[in-house]
Amino acid sequence: MDFSTPSRVADLLPAIRAFVTERIQPLEKRMPEGWSVLEPELERIHCQAPDVGNMEILHEFGTAEQKRTWLEPLAAGRIRSCFSMTEPAMPGSNPAWMATRARLDGDSWVIDGRKWFTTAAEGARIAIVMAVTDPEAQNVYTRASQIIVPMDTPGVRLLRNIPVMGEAGGGWASHGEIAYEDVRVPRANLLGDQGAGFVIAQARLGPGRIHHCMRWIGICQRAFDLLCERAVSREMSPGRPLGLKGTIQQWIAESRAEIDAARLLVLHAAWRIDRDGAHAARDDISMIKFVVANTLFRVLDRAIQAHGALGITDDTPLAWWFRHERGARIYDGPDEVHQAAVARHILRARGLPDRRGGA
Ligand SMILES: Cc1cc2nc3c(=O)[nH]c(=O)nc-3n(C[C@H](O)[C@H](O)[C@H](O)COP(=O)(O)OP(=O)(O)OC[C@H]3O[C@@H](n4cnc5c(N)ncnc54)[C@H](O)[C@@H]3O)c2cc1C
Repeated sequence: MDFSTPSRVADLLPAIRAFVTERIQPLEKRMPEGWSVLEPELERIHCQAPDVGNMEILHEFGTAEQKRTWLEPLAAGRIRSCFSMTEPAMPGSNPAWMATRARLDGDSWVIDGRKWFTTAAEGARIAIVMAVTDPEAQNVYTRASQIIVPMDTPGVRLLRNIPVMGEAGGGWASHGEIAYEDVRVPRANLLGDQGAGFVIAQARLGPGRIHHCMRWIGICQRAFDLLCERAVSREMSPGRPLGLKGTIQQWIAESRAEIDAARLLVLHAAWRIDRDGAHAARDDISMIKFVVANTLFRVLDRAIQAHGALGITDDTPLAWWFRHERGARIYDGPDEVHQAAVARHILRARGLPDRRGGA
């Protein structure tokens, strides 16, 4: 197996590394001031969630008109977007059970519902809203559709940025609670076919989880670097740095092995998506989601612990990541949902009956 970086990516790496070390890392200390510090730099690369996932579904499912109106400015970084699916009163883990409704009235969709944890809603130009359009459909997975809603449409109200771990954030780095009340948008704003909401959501989530895992591995690597720097530089007594302690050495070895294992699992899942498609690779995608989210948590925790009191201050980015990335085990499907899905597929292949009693 060839683990080398493809040449067209390898050619880009020096420029990406220079960008991160020269432009991004100097801003780390200012992260607690808010993401607005980083936003101008991030807009240059424009590969952040949820925009990148929205661009992918507009690219795959959008009409020529939708692409011209929304995909082009999104891809150019001129506008931002958000994805509005989860509801406060309904279990996000079972998205087939959703309260938001969209009904056709003449040439308009009329949307009513309440969403929350719509990341980056503040400042977004559009939301892609998941709503039930066929409540009576036999197959629950054909009941919902995705509809493009400009955020300035009458009836769309951003109620608040939800405080998360003590911070409500702002702009791209916020999670909005949104009321959709009698919101009218043109019929042509339907994304893909009516009832295709879950098909599109799955298409979005496959590569989306790869992207999240790549970001988490990036954070792991940065936390690992800080852990190692601390191990070498913090003297516990004259001439005796922290890294001489066996426990710290164990954390470093375990972290290195876990990050590398996570990275290989993600590369493998990406390779399977390329080769067999996202549906065939669904267990691989589920596995990276919970493996990498937990690796992130462990590596960050060790790095914080090795920094002592400094670790829980905002003088390093570690505490900020620890607060903000706790959500990694919840969003894009909680770990338990992915674990249950993987286990079910394994056991069904060995004869476990499904919930309805069939094989
Ligand atoms: C930081 C962050 C950003 C988010 N961004 C967005 C966004 O941009 N757009 C959007 O629409 N949503 C977003 N979400 C919402 C996210 O998708 C939901 O929180 C997630 O799907 C879980 O739904 P829920 O919160 O309703 O939890 P629930 O469905 O109520 O589940 C609660 C808990 O029950 C347990 N559980 C659930 N199912 C099972 C099972 N089968 N087996 C065992 N245990 C189980 C899990 O521990 C789970 O955490 C975001 C969430 C977070 C935290």
